[in-house]
Amino acid sequence: MRRIALLGTGTMGSGMAETWLKKGFAVTAYNRTRAKADALAASGAQVAATPRDAAAGAELIVAMVADEQASRDVWLGETGALTAANPGTVLVESSTVPPEWARELAAHADERGIPFLDVPVAGSKAAAASGALTLFVGGDAATLERARPALAAISRQIVHLGPTGAGATWKLIHNMMLAVHIAAAAEAIALAAKAGFDPAQALSLIENGPAASFIVKFKMPRFSEQRFDDADFALRHMLKDARYALALGEKFGARLDVVRGAAADYDRADKMGFGDLDFAGVVKAMAD
Ligand code: NAP
Repeated sequence: MRRIALLGTGTMGSGMAETWLKKGFAVTAYNRTRAKADALAASGAQVAATPRDAAAGAELIVAMVADEQASRDVWLGETGALTAANPGTVLVESSTVPPEWARELAAHADERGIPFLDVPVAGSKAAAASGALTLFVGGDAATLERARPALAAISRQIVHLGPTGAGATWKLIHNMMLAVHIAAAAEAIALAAKAGFDPAQALSLIENGPAASFIVKFKMPRFSEQRFDDADFALRHMLKDARYALALGEKFGARLDVVRGAAADYDRADKMGFGDLDFAGVVKAMAD
């Protein structure tokens, strides 16, 4: 599978496209805001005006867009990618979306005899641009084997978790922990400031203490420099993922009170206008 259609060239999609292009894959890119896809032409991508145009002639069609609504918009409808796919194609949904939608999309594909994988990713902007993502895969093993060479090119680890929807489900479990860790760190930083501790000393104690997880350490330069622009992962996407995780918890009857608290922090920050910031910017919502 050397011909890839990529739907969505945002933070993650653009890095994935650059990686495929560097490794000799042919990429046709679609983005709702065309200028972002045009930026990839210099690296050798073809740019298409619609998802359907991007998908025509592709062997692998990958969506990497914001959320369920965006995914519906690029796959379905008259100009959706599904209309251009055929049984020789493999469809891949890499956006973080609810497993119910991944299964619904798989059913649309199945009606046309087209194989489908849900392949959400872990790792951020830098991992996408350097081919070092971790991929959580749902779908059948034979379809994964067909797609594996293209998926291996953008990843350092491919984890097959089960049937369709399993990748999407695990991704929400994965992200809800990130949401909680950063919300907890932000609350600690804000409380330390209100209690009168020296900010640099407080950050150093958090960073070097037992509660500093990988993600807390990763975000420490942002916390210490108060720099939340040029998001690796936008706050509004973390809010979306926390909400999707809460819906998953409800479905399985799992209590997610800590996630609910974190979601409230991100929701407040989003309402204060911080949705486009990196999700570590949730700390800005705790200043008053
Ligand atoms: P992003 O930079 O905000 O890009 C979002 C993309 O979705 C853009 O291409 C945007 O198009 C497109 N889009 C939004 N609404 C649309 C619609 N209604 N129809 C068509 N296209 C639409 O987000 P990202 O960081 O690349 O994340 C993409 C996905 O990967 C999300 O599901 C996110 O949760 C997930 N993810 C992100 C990270 C990360 O660290 N950034 C890591 C793992 C997974 P426009 O340019 O026109 O707005």
